[in-house]
Amino acid sequence: MSIKRRISLLGSTGSIGRQSLEVIDSLGYECVALTANTGAALIEAQARKFKPKLAVLFDEQAAYDLKVKLADTSVKVLSGMDGLIEAASIEEADTVITAVSGMIGLKPTLAAIDTGKRIALANKETLVCAGELVMDRAEQMGAEIIPVDSEHSALFQSLHSGKRTEVEKLIITASGGPFFGWSYDELENVTVDMALKHPNWSMGQKITIDSATMMNKGLEVIEAMRLYRMPLEKIEVAVHRQSIVHSLVEFVDGSLIAQLGTADMRLPIQYALTFPYRTAGPASKLDLFSCGDLTFQRPDPDTFTCLSAAFEAASRGGTACAVMNGADEVAVAAFLGGKIGFNDIGRLVWKAMEHVTFVADPGLEDILEADREARSFVADNIN
Ligand code: MG
Repeated sequence: MSIKRRISLLGSTGSIGRQSLEVIDSLGYECVALTANTGAALIEAQARKFKPKLAVLFDEQAAYDLKVKLADTSVKVLSGMDGLIEAASIEEADTVITAVSGMIGLKPTLAAIDTGKRIALANKETLVCAGELVMDRAEQMGAEIIPVDSEHSALFQSLHSGKRTEVEKLIITASGGPFFGWSYDELENVTVDMALKHPNWSMGQKITIDSATMMNKGLEVIEAMRLYRMPLEKIEVAVHRQSIVHSLVEFVDGSLIAQLGTADMRLPIQYALTFPYRTAGPASKLDLFSCGDLTFQRPDPDTFTCLSAAFEAASRGGTACAVMNGADEVAVAAFLGGKIGFNDIGRLVWKAMEHVTFVADPGLEDILEADREARSFVADNIN
């Protein structure tokens, strides 16, 4: 059994957003709001199919065009951060899927928390930059935060095998990306096309580059610290090239509990919606007899300097994670635009962490300021 949920989907045209709609469709759930940053034609098609109350395109002109196109429907169309926040807090929804990429997801997530809805969280930056604030607020408001990220869903599922005080370690698996085993010098020559070819997962561009630099794993370590309120020392990264074991929890008695499955995001998306129940769904099933050998190796943070930057930011705390995250977003965009090399991403992130003002016990404004400062620092250091 499961409750029929009414969903507001933030980021409906991205990879997670499109897969979320497949899950919503297959479960027969309702979609009451859709938002997107790009993909006007796609959000129009989605709005026609799912008939939400509200559709939001971030850009004002694009939203106006969408409004004209949807004039024959009853869908309300809005734009900008106000539109996103309205979608996040829309009364008709009991669940918000936050599948937007980047810091832009922070304010809408907080707005959704304030209405006490379930948050199916697929926006890493929210927890990385403002995790303590977000988790405290969710606790106060009684809003459940259920992770969509495959690793955190695996941890979430495995954690049910024991009490939080019985956890020895969280072990987050990493595919290692396309360049695992390469030397730092070899990475200097990585091109955009090479970095966009992920061996196991099909994802958006930002996260695919973050996987290649292993920044994605760094972000996930910080996300796990915040979500499960675990100290950094209790979190380990294991490179697992096959992406079958999605993460593990080690308990004090030495038991390792893991969640296994294919590299299909529809499964963790669905679990975030149906929890505490399970139901049949569209995700592909794992065939144990054809998945081959499972291997586990240590990561190399000296080569993958974005991973070591994330560990450093996590141990510094305060605004360090927001600085690291903001710097990475700008550096990845510059790499995708052909302006900097692959290793420059890590160099710029480390440099931003050295130079941008540090606040030890930040409020929301300090976090947003650290993010802004990091972005302009990196932008200035590219030109
Ligand atoms: Mg992940």
